[in-house]
Amino acid sequence: MGIFNKIFGSYSEREVKRILPLVDKIDSLEESIKQLSDEELKGKTLEFKNRLNNGETLDDVLAEAFAVVREASGRVLGMRHYREQLIGGVVLHQGRISEMKTGEGKTLVATLPAYLNALSEKGVHIVTVNDYLAKRDKEWMGQIYEFLGLKTGVIVHELNNEERRAAYNSDITYGTNNEFGFDYLRDNMVIYKEERVQRDLNFSIVDEVDSILIDEARTPLIISGEGDKSTEFYKIADFFVKTLKGETDYTVDEKAKSVMLTEEGIKKAEKYFHLENYADAENMEIQHHVTQALKANYQMKIDKDYVVKSGEVVIVDEFTGRIMEGRRYSDGLHQAIEAKEGVKVEKESKTLATITFQNYFRMYNKLSGMTGTALTEEVEFREIYGLDVIVVPTHRAIAREDQSDVIYKTENGKYKAIIKEIEESYKKGQPVLVGTVSIENSELLSAMLKKKGVPHQVLNAKYHEQEADIISHAGEKGMVTIATNMAGRGTDIKLGEGVTEVGGLKIIGTERHESRRIDNQLRGRSGRQGDPGASRFYLSLEDDLMRIFGSEKLQSLVDKLGLEEDEAIESNMVTKAIENAQKKVEGNNFDIRKTLLGYDDVMNKQREIIYAQRSQVLSGENLKEQISLMIEETIEAGVKTHISGSEDTFTEELKNLVNYMEDIFVPHKMVKVEELEKLSNEEIIDKYEDIAFDLYEEKEKSFGEEQMREIERVILLRIVDTKWMDHIDNMDHLKQGIGLRAYKQQDPTQAYQFEGSNMFDEMIFNIKVDTVKFLMHVQSERAPERERVVKETATNIDSQGKRVPVKNDNKIGRNDPCTCGSGVKYKNCCGRGV
Ligand code: ADP
Repeated sequence: MGIFNKIFGSYSEREVKRILPLVDKIDSLEESIKQLSDEELKGKTLEFKNRLNNGETLDDVLAEAFAVVREASGRVLGMRHYREQLIGGVVLHQGRISEMKTGEGKTLVATLPAYLNALSEKGVHIVTVNDYLAKRDKEWMGQIYEFLGLKTGVIVHELNNEERRAAYNSDITYGTNNEFGFDYLRDNMVIYKEERVQRDLNFSIVDEVDSILIDEARTPLIISGEGDKSTEFYKIADFFVKTLKGETDYTVDEKAKSVMLTEEGIKKAEKYFHLENYADAENMEIQHHVTQALKANYQMKIDKDYVVKSGEVVIVDEFTGRIMEGRRYSDGLHQAIEAKEGVKVEKESKTLATITFQNYFRMYNKLSGMTGTALTEEVEFREIYGLDVIVVPTHRAIAREDQSDVIYKTENGKYKAIIKEIEESYKKGQPVLVGTVSIENSELLSAMLKKKGVPHQVLNAKYHEQEADIISHAGEKGMVTIATNMAGRGTDIKLGEGVTEVGGLKIIGTERHESRRIDNQLRGRSGRQGDPGASRFYLSLEDDLMRIFGSEKLQSLVDKLGLEEDEAIESNMVTKAIENAQKKVEGNNFDIRKTLLGYDDVMNKQREIIYAQRSQVLSGENLKEQISLMIEETIEAGVKTHISGSEDTFTEELKNLVNYMEDIFVPHKMVKVEELEKLSNEEIIDKYEDIAFDLYEEKEKSFGEEQMREIERVILLRIVDTKWMDHIDNMDHLKQGIGLRAYKQQDPTQAYQFEGSNMFDEMIFNIKVDTVKFLMHVQSERAPERERVVKETATNIDSQGKRVPVKNDNKIGRNDPCTCGSGVKYKNCCGRGV
């Protein structure tokens, strides 16, 4: 790479060269555009839109549109985009990452591609790391767009759905990655399409793209509901099934691995739970609990399928007989067994929807990003997102002096040296920004400075707005600011009066981060736009990174020199050794993220299928053909699983089949075993299909076509949602358990993919069977209506940026419908005996 670069220039240099003619063209348009009145300039927006409608492309109008934005910006904000900023703007429009150093004015750069792409009227999202920056940028840059006749919106946490929808319908929408991602998930949980807030995901410009796509890649967005609603109900269902008698009330079907209620059993259930019709779709939750309780009590065997160990139900592996610590049966079966055994039924907070940022952002038609530090992660951006990193030259040469690291033997020695250095700068009047990796270290330093009587500020990335204000003064004379990595990011640090003379802003790093990128971010807070400045990292052999990855050479060098606590070594060799350690860690972390992505890809494909199905239902499509196919499949599969072809067991199998079909749709005693005995499998299938389609037609006649179609949509929507949410949970459990496979010489990722897709296929099949079942049991006076499976799904973000479920403190009345969604009065459901 080295020699190649010298001869041909780096990749970025070559790419930038290719963009330069465009920049020249934009420059050349400046004179004529300056002549336009404000009205005429605004009129350009409509003109561009018309040209696009007449077949021109965004690239055709790019130069002129950029020139218009530049002129508008000059008129309303007094800032004229530099040539480098135009380059950055082109890079973004091309769907790439533009690496521009801090202070180069990325906020202004984004206006160019944002305006251009908004002309196609499909929406542009500008993504910032916190609400404060979203609001600030919208208000600041929004003036340019408004001047040019475009609408801007901002999505912040407090908005309601209507406000969100309005913001998304604007030409350009500012907001945080969290808000955009959550809105996407929520949009896929609505039950009427009018409730959606987002449009299709068209073009997004992600500010600080590295923190969002790389640092946050490991924490997925999760919308969770409270799982504790149903733990009580497991006990109630358990109590109920224990009152039942074998054969008369329920039958055990070994083949289909299920236990079913008989007519008699269903009557008892209706009485016990006060239901009019047990099979109604609105009783899905109750049926589910009863089914699992039946299975737990009459199919699962203690000390064979599971054991009870110190108050916990532990699964026994059916092949090896090994106890599988920590694994849980899915779909509520584990809780049902816990209820059966009288041990504590574990609460589970249920994940209702989840997506990683990677997968969210990959859905945009075009994705672009900006950051001061992307080059170290170039490979990852290209491999995972297909995003190119282009380094844009700075407007003015960087004058900051990056000094080589100094290293102490002990942490104590290091901190003493840091304090001394801060004190000296403070006396000189040179402002210092001290970067720490943790809040703890910030506080330690703060205490030490207090002892010395050095006034200072501490920022922990908790109060974005206040901290932005504080950090904007960090470049003033005599200021000392201690900040963790994320604190005050994105805020411009201007130098105060007389600061240039004392050397500009000094950056002190108190520890090297695992990733070089984060260190570069810290350095980059000084030396904006050609300002003077300095940066240096202070390290000790006791730092985490050094302890874990530091080379032995370094250690022996320190030993040989017989270093005292307050003595330091400072050499290139040290800096090199550290860089190598960092590269090692970066490589490891990349691998971890890649593995996670491998897992996530499985879920992602599944999510796409489910969400597409939901969209189809929401947009009111006619599902008759799909339903017909489901009926056929259910019947075929039912016959095939029950009939083995062996003469000896034929009658017994037919009996089970008749029961099974009655459970799904056939009226009681309509089909008798004797009739089936003379038929081939195909004829049996035909017979059941005839019955099913007659029944289907009958239902359609009684409801009328239109209502029948709506009933189908309602039933499918509810079943898909319930099963999908359970599936997410199951996949989660699978993922947690899958690491253990490595012990069995299995590749965990492959095992996960394999089992995950089996589980998905199974879920899809169950959706079909349940849909048929519910549809066939619908009674005219009780036609289901659209109703949310999950009522309260609010989530919140705690101070660490972690997403936590919001507790619903509203008291429920005894006669209110139960919150678990069962449709039963609270006092007769989860509120029983409370
Ligand atoms: P970055 O996000 O790249 O670190 P900012 O967007 O915060 O940079 O901008 C840094 C500072 O530079 C801001 O104070 C902004 O007003 C100023 N600035 C950016 N572009 C220009 C320009 N073309 N002319 C004048 N000032 C500019």
